[in-house]
Amino acid sequence: EVDWFSLASILFLLMFAPLIVYYFIMSCDQYQCSLIDPVIDLLTGSKHLSDIWNKTPTLTYRAASIYTLWVAFQVVLYVCIPDFCHKFLPGYVGGVQEGAVTPAGVVNKYEINGLQAWIITHVLWFANAYYFHCFSPTIIFDNWIPLLWCANILGYAVSTFAMIKGYFFPTNAKDCKFTGNFFYDYMMGIEFNPRIGKWFDFKLFFNGRPGIVAWTLINLSYAAKQQELYGQVTNSMILVNVLQGIYVLDFFWNEAWYLKTIDICHDHFGWYLGWGDCVWLPYLYTLQGLYLVYHPVQLGTANAVGILMLGLIGYYIFRMTNHQKDLFRRTNGNCKIWGKKPEYIECSYMSVDGTKYYSKLMTSGFWGWARHFNYTGDLMGSLAYCLTCGFDHILPYFYIVYMTILLTHRCIRDEHRCFSKYGKDWKRYTSAVPYRLIPGVF
Ligand code: NDP
Repeated sequence: EVDWFSLASILFLLMFAPLIVYYFIMSCDQYQCSLIDPVIDLLTGSKHLSDIWNKTPTLTYRAASIYTLWVAFQVVLYVCIPDFCHKFLPGYVGGVQEGAVTPAGVVNKYEINGLQAWIITHVLWFANAYYFHCFSPTIIFDNWIPLLWCANILGYAVSTFAMIKGYFFPTNAKDCKFTGNFFYDYMMGIEFNPRIGKWFDFKLFFNGRPGIVAWTLINLSYAAKQQELYGQVTNSMILVNVLQGIYVLDFFWNEAWYLKTIDICHDHFGWYLGWGDCVWLPYLYTLQGLYLVYHPVQLGTANAVGILMLGLIGYYIFRMTNHQKDLFRRTNGNCKIWGKKPEYIECSYMSVDGTKYYSKLMTSGFWGWARHFNYTGDLMGSLAYCLTCGFDHILPYFYIVYMTILLTHRCIRDEHRCFSKYGKDWKRYTSAVPYRLIPGVF
């Protein structure tokens, strides 16, 4: 059932999310990243909407070619090159891996080769920048708005295709979810794991590539633009590249683990993931780098070190919390967390076919501090990215505001799902670990 609040939020996002992205990117392009000036111009009548729109770069053949080549290249890397990284990188889990059990009891297999795709893409990027010079490393920045139109076309196309596919030729009909509400189904998706053929998995592909592989390239393109415009790359830009680079590399290093996260395990594939991965993520997660092209901030050493420490500590908490749960679940609790056997609550649940399954919820380590301390670490890292930009404008702070809303909402959504899944066992768990994000506060 779709309650009125969910429906209202969905309609709001469908209508306004594309506008929000446009507004942010346009305000950098036309207003030096000021979010207030366009509003003042419009309110005072010194500009009309049509003036702003007419100044906005349109879709170009060049951008369309770049984008098509980019996505096609990522598809080839994903589908055609089986993982070889796990053969020589100790500790890396790649190659064919199994996902979690779906509500219909299916266990999907995935070809985990994101790290390899990321490495190949970046090796080629640097080879071009330093040796071949086929295109300028500022290419992404230089075509940023025309590329936005391409990303939107792909985002809408893939979401619409996923909806049609869910109705007419689903990969696994038993895992489809129809609410009967067109907008909800379009937004949140019908199919759980849409696929083309045996290996092209929509969720894994669109979640990770092309958006997350592009993330670090986009930041590199911003750094190259700073170099071109000002003859130097500021320490704030380096910090953004390094901290976000660690996050992206971590994502690919742990791609197999990612199969067990909410996006892959619980979310259906609709506009939320399809459009979000194509447009929202590459455009809004990279706002700090974009801002620094227009406002090159050179941080004092103490500030730079402080921000680096915040980012690294946040990353450590994020990674260790996720690692503790992964280790705990993989070994079925037969492991050590902070040198001790983990404590946990035994719980059970039913799949749709009535089969009873058993699971465990850990109550020690970071999972004993709060029920989502991984999100807390993620938020600390997000704040560090924003702080690199100083305090002159609010635009770079969009990320921390957004992440706080996203992760708090996600936390509540996840807990709602866990309560429906585990019932009274979940209540026992929340009594044992009473806080969500910050021990003693929330
Ligand atoms: P979690 O990794 O926290 O997974 C939640 C699931 O873990 C629950 O549904 C439950 O699943 C299981 N679980 C909950 N509590 C326990 C426990 N005590 N012991 C064992 N298992 C437990 O959430 P996400 O998948 O949302 O996040 C993964 C990471 O990705 C996070 O670190 C998050 O910060 C990050 N992230 C980043 C985003 C970004 O845009 N940058 C967006 C979203 C996430 P089960 O049904 O198996 O019991």
